[in-house]
This record gives sequence, structure tokens and C-alpha cells, in this order.
Amino acid sequence: MSHAPNAVARLRDQREDEGIKPIQARGFRSERCRDCRVIISHCLCAWRPTVETRSGVCLIMTGKEVFKPSNTGWLIADVVRDNHAFIWSRTEIDEQLLALLNDPQWQPYLVFPGEYVEPSRVTNTVGLDNGKRPLFILLDATWTEARKMFRKSPYFDRLPILSLLPDRLSRYRLRRSTRSEHLCTAEVAALCLELAGDNAAASALDAYFDVFSQHYLGAKQQLDVNLATPAHAELLPFIGNTQAIQAG
Ligand SMILES: [Zn+2]
Repeated sequence: MSHAPNAVARLRDQREDEGIKPIQARGFRSERCRDCRVIISHCLCAWRPTVETRSGVCLIMTGKEVFKPSNTGWLIADVVRDNHAFIWSRTEIDEQLLALLNDPQWQPYLVFPGEYVEPSRVTNTVGLDNGKRPLFILLDATWTEARKMFRKSPYFDRLPILSLLPDRLSRYRLRRSTRSEHLCTAEVAALCLELAGDNAAASALDAYFDVFSQHYLGAKQQLDVNLATPAHAELLPFIGNTQAIQAG
């Protein structure tokens, strides 16, 4: 089984074809791998996991986010086979997004903090018995941008809101000794997958995110690649072709 087609990578390629270029970020001078966005010496490609998931994900992104090498929506798209990504626009509605939201095979959940939504729309669990597969819609943007997307997208108004409970969030932080107060999109997605019973995918995504962070920061700090970390060990069972790792 090959890895998932990456809808974020496809969006980036489309934008580039349209002549849109990323804003030159710091560290952009070093050559990055096209497929994992990490600086070539720390390429992550051999560590892309392959895992079955019942759930799907749909990332709603800003045009800027698509080009950010640090964007973690990309990692979700690497892990979850049924992944979709759209660039948000206040004025234009993407017909393909509407079709996806209306596709009867999916039960969409918009992932958003419940305290900002009328309580009748909010759920803290993922229904698994209605014959539909869960589709997690993640607003992959800064908090300010995400709030704007939420308020100004009428097609989201009818969707149930999946709100992650604070005790779940703090247990997750404890388990993973995450220091940052806010979880990144990949961490939120891992929690959603766990709620949906996609436990292997949740573990694979958590480990993949850690490995990505280590390679990304290692390249930035010009440290040698260290493959002997607990995160690499956790990710290893999800790698199809481990020979690539020995060789690389
Ligand atoms: Zn790579």
C-alpha cells in the first residue's frame, strides 16, 4: 500500500502553476525537499507512515499556509488517505467543497472550540453507528483567521461542531509532554482520530509530527539527523519500507 495522496501538496503545486510564489521566509535559502518540505539533509520522506483510517479529513487553509514549510496540515494529509484541502475565500465558494460536505458517505464535523458556538450545535463525541464515516473539517490557520473562516462561511452553519473537551486536551498534553499551550493542527487531528476509534492513525500521526519537528528543528539548528529518538521508534511500525531508512 502506498502512502496517501497529499491534497496540501496538490494545492501548493496548483498555486505555483498559477504563478503564486511563497513569501521568502527565513531559512528559505537552504534547499528543501519538494515532498516533505524539510531541508534536504534532514529529509523526512523515508518516515512517511502508511496506515488505514476510517475517518477522512478536510483542511480549510489560507493561501499563505499552503506554502509554509512548518504547516502541519501537510502531515495530516500524509497520514490520512482520504484527505482534502481547500483555500478559504470569503467571497468565493468552492463547489468541490460543497459537494464533499453533501457527500452521503461522510458525516462532517467542524472542529472548533465549543464556547464560541450555540450549545445545541456542539458535540464532544464522534458518532460511529450511523453508517457514515466521520469527516473532520479542520481550520488550518491562525486563531484570528480561523474565527473569521468560521463566522463568514454560511455553508458551515448546518454542520455539527466537534469541540474537544478540556480534560481530554490536558490529558493529551500530559501524555505527550507538549509544552505549548495551543495544540497545532496535526495534534488536534490526532485527537479527532482517537475519538473516532482510528487509534493506529492517531498514534502514527502523533509520532510523525514529533519526528517532523525533530528533523525540522535539527535542520534549522544545523544538527546531525538523529534517528535514535523515541519518536522514531514509535513511528517505525507504521513505515512500510524500512529498507529506505537503513539506506538513507
Ligand atoms: Zn523529503
